[in-house]
Amino acid sequence: MTVNIDFSCVGCGQCCTGSTSLTLNEMVRFADIFPVGMTWNSVPPKKTLDPKAFQSIRDRSFLVKLGDGRAIRILGRISTMTPSKSACPARNEDMSCAVHGAGKPGACLIAPLGFGMPIDFKYDRLPPMFAKCPSEAFTGSPLLRRGVVVDPEFKRHVNENRKQLSGDVGLIEVAFAQQLQHMIQAGYNRDEAILAATSVSIFDAPQSDLVATSGIWSLIVAAVGKGRMSKPLASDTVRKQIAVCDRYRAIWSHSDTAHGALASQIEVLNGVLEWIEK
Ligand code: SF4
Ligand code: SF4
Repeated sequence: MTVNIDFSCVGCGQCCTGSTSLTLNEMVRFADIFPVGMTWNSVPPKKTLDPKAFQSIRDRSFLVKLGDGRAIRILGRISTMTPSKSACPARNEDMSCAVHGAGKPGACLIAPLGFGMPIDFKYDRLPPMFAKCPSEAFTGSPLLRRGVVVDPEFKRHVNENRKQLSGDVGLIEVAFAQQLQHMIQAGYNRDEAILAATSVSIFDAPQSDLVATSGIWSLIVAAVGKGRMSKPLASDTVRKQIAVCDRYRAIWSHSDTAHGALASQIEVLNGVLEWIEK
């Protein structure tokens, strides 16, 4: 089947539920819109992935060693703390995206394809992620020709997003090491902490509040320590996050895990604020 699509996202928000990955700069820029946490996922073994997909993940991940010498590759993501079936906090009441346009998060600029697949992947049918897009979205510039992405703007956004995410990896690795210390202090041994931190998503496990909230604590402390954030900027970001977490704690009261995680997040962020301002 020949797959040719003209496409331009119209920002209708139909696909906008659950969490979205952000760069550190985007976390700061959208601090008063998204409650933000960290997720850490172990990357599947190289032999199970397409070589180009592995190369792309490799640039955005880092290795940690378990006590028995095995190495785990970890993909750490700064991510909005949106429960899987809940609307993105940037969605308007009519479901449209309130930040639609060139300034929205990089992950959204490449929706709905994303870059889970290598940029030169050849689709042999209409990719299922377009299922929610309305007909008016299929009238923009050429996106796919013979199943391959041809839109230079889309490719530019993918490359820019990858570059930004790769630029955050060193910081995220430092944050992960700090998070392990935090979890060890809470009673985990090191290997347990690594496996627990890499096996849950933000809201999906009983220990998710510790994993998600200590992740953001570690990230901000690491960003200040590495000079990626000044103390005044960190303080402003954390204050906005406290306000936004408080707002969404009320909105997502139907989800015990989200409610619990946001309550823990507020407590942790108040601790971070004290650390920044002392
Ligand atoms: S920021 Fe806009 S495009 Fe991105 S997930 Fe939220 S509503 Fe959708
Ligand atoms: S990717 Fe499609 S469904 Fe999602 S906001 Fe854009 S047009 Fe709407």
